Amino acid sequence: MKNLVKYLFVFVMLVFVLTACNGGASYKALIITGQNNHNWKSSSPILKEVLLQTGIFSAEIAKSPEKGGDMNSFNPDFSKYNVIIIDYNGESWSEKTKAAFVEYVKNGGGVVSYHAGDNSFPDWKEYNEMIGLGGWGGRSQKDGPYVYYKGDKMVIDTAAGSGGAHGKRHEFEIKARNVEHPITKGLPQRWVHGTDELYAKLRGPGKNMEIIATAFSDTAKGGTGRDEPILMVVNYGKGRIFHTTLGHPDKEGGPALQCVGFITTFQRGAEWAASGKVTQKIPYDFPTAAGSSYRLDYKELTLEDDLNKISQYDITKSTKYFTDLQSRIRKESKTADDFAKFEKAMVKVLENKSASEDGKKLLLRELSWMGSDISVSAIKELAKNPNLKDEAEFALARLSSSK
Ligand code: ZN
Repeated sequence: MKNLVKYLFVFVMLVFVLTACNGGASYKALIITGQNNHNWKSSSPILKEVLLQTGIFSAEIAKSPEKGGDMNSFNPDFSKYNVIIIDYNGESWSEKTKAAFVEYVKNGGGVVSYHAGDNSFPDWKEYNEMIGLGGWGGRSQKDGPYVYYKGDKMVIDTAAGSGGAHGKRHEFEIKARNVEHPITKGLPQRWVHGTDELYAKLRGPGKNMEIIATAFSDTAKGGTGRDEPILMVVNYGKGRIFHTTLGHPDKEGGPALQCVGFITTFQRGAEWAASGKVTQKIPYDFPTAAGSSYRLDYKELTLEDDLNKISQYDITKSTKYFTDLQSRIRKESKTADDFAKFEKAMVKVLENKSASEDGKKLLLRELSWMGSDISVSAIKELAKNPNLKDEAEFALARLSSSK
């Protein structure tokens, strides 16, 4: 009996250690890159980081040989992964690798075609069926119709012409066309996307494809005057493909990848491609129809990040972290307990002798509407400081009048 308990203990510990090693990740992602007309050296590590942040993915990067290298040596074992991210726009893969990829998807593997992923492989029939629509690479009417929206109607346009175009980079509004799809469910129907290329004139077979979001390609920005497909889902065999045209990378990544709309739809699309469902929460900083939202280091800020920065704030600096704190409080506080959690954290900054006075002024302004008895004694203490007296007394007056 004693031995059994001992073995059981060892077994439980082993399971625990193995789970911990995997970081609790449920799905394995492989990012394919190494050749692209885009800055894949900046985009692929960012995509990896963004997947890891979900806590449900492990992620690896597979680099192809450089252009002109021996493509026969490029043979990733797709079957080991739940989702393959295509950050690749380069030379054809070997017939063997292509066949393995088709087999992987047919058997239920997930794929995400990211930005110029839909420029790739213009002559590979199966790949074009997987992505639904593509652009550039000599694509024309021979590859399938243009597909876009006019008002509420999807248009399948067989007109002759080249595939793929975009105007100047700008912020633009994205409109969800299916708010019940797992990827878009819970998102606002419209939101402003960060500065990016708006892909247009995509054409292809479009089989088993649904356009789940579009954006109006404004002629004033060099666009087509049509509502162009931005996010698509395709079924191929038992496999699921999520196609995002978003996320043009600069040398350092840049605004298209910093956009919370890009990050969130990419994370959700990858989970859907891997599993057919989406379990991730909508982040509090998701953009709205009123404006875009960026994460400068691609990471969701924590309350601690906001308060640390506010502690060091002076009026020459951006109020980004204060704005972030404000939207966090507004979106995450439903009950008095929720407000109290924020208030207690803010009081700690008010009581911190080394926190800046400018930072404390911002917090006093916020506490004047959302504070309670929790902050009164800390604010009274600040009222003794001539530099903070006005703001502190204003906050106390508002707090006592709201009772
Ligand atoms: Zn681009």
